[in-house]
Amino acid sequence: MAAEYPLDTDALLTHMERVENGVSVSWQDNRGEAHQETFEWILVATGRKPNLDRLGLENTSLTLNPDGTTPFDLDTLQCGNSAIFLAGDANHYLPVLHEAADEGVTAGTNAALYPQIKPGLRRAPMSVIFSDPQIALAGKRWQDLPAGSFVTGRVSFENQGRSRVMLKNKGMLHLYADKASGRFLGVEMIGPATEHLAHLLAWAYQQEMTVNQMLEMPFYHPVIEEGLRTALRDAAAQLK
Ligand SMILES: Cc1cc2nc3c(=O)[nH]c(=O)nc-3n(C[C@H](O)[C@H](O)[C@H](O)COP(=O)(O)OP(=O)(O)OC[C@H]3O[C@@H](n4cnc5c(N)ncnc54)[C@H](O)[C@@H]3O)c2cc1C
Repeated sequence: MAAEYPLDTDALLTHMERVENGVSVSWQDNRGEAHQETFEWILVATGRKPNLDRLGLENTSLTLNPDGTTPFDLDTLQCGNSAIFLAGDANHYLPVLHEAADEGVTAGTNAALYPQIKPGLRRAPMSVIFSDPQIALAGKRWQDLPAGSFVTGRVSFENQGRSRVMLKNKGMLHLYADKASGRFLGVEMIGPATEHLAHLLAWAYQQEMTVNQMLEMPFYHPVIEEGLRTALRDAAAQLK
């Protein structure tokens, strides 16, 4: 991405103000060098917050955080011991569509059956960013895992056969496997068609497969999944 346009994932914004011909921005780049430039427009993607402020939650017995959100159970979606359930983007836990749909079922079922509530379905975590190359995660992330408890299987897409044929040979994939059981724990990747690899690997994660069981599955030639096999073999070699 940085080869195609200036990209700094660790810049420190020091000043930004509207000026006559656009917006003046001052920042320090990841090497600590200071910059100042004026741009016609700024697109600021800073996330979103739950739209809870006009629901009148302050009139209930719920404990509210300073930002107006309220603690809730991640599995039942119940707020405290109340008959109030928070689903989807409103709880800001996993603000993506398929999770919101699952949580809607959980919250609706529990609200209807209250006080007989139960945990709802939680699928394998999965996240896709539709950039080019795509960024995707499935299962646990590196930062979620206790250091020393897992091995990392790696592949670079630079020299991966199918990715080269498609001129999409940029990116890398890191997958994690539990040292004690060999179980596949998660994957983080940037590269070609990672939205599809993310599904394959989210399914493997939810099936609690080990790296060796995954290597017993078929891999066609020539496909991007052969790159995944390289990373699985790398993990398997470290698990031996
Ligand atoms: C730009 C953008 C891109 C996204 N891309 C993806 C993506 O690629 N993949 C993905 O999985 N997810 C994506 N999402 C997230 C996804 O859209 C949300 O996670 C999902 O829509 C959440 O569903 P929801 O039902 O919780 O909330 P919403 O879909 O926001 O529905 C809430 C509804 O409640 C209504 N409402 C609000 N307050 C009240 C009120 N007081 N009374 C009555 N009605 C009210 C709103 O008008 C709205 O219709 C994206 C979101 C955005 C903003």
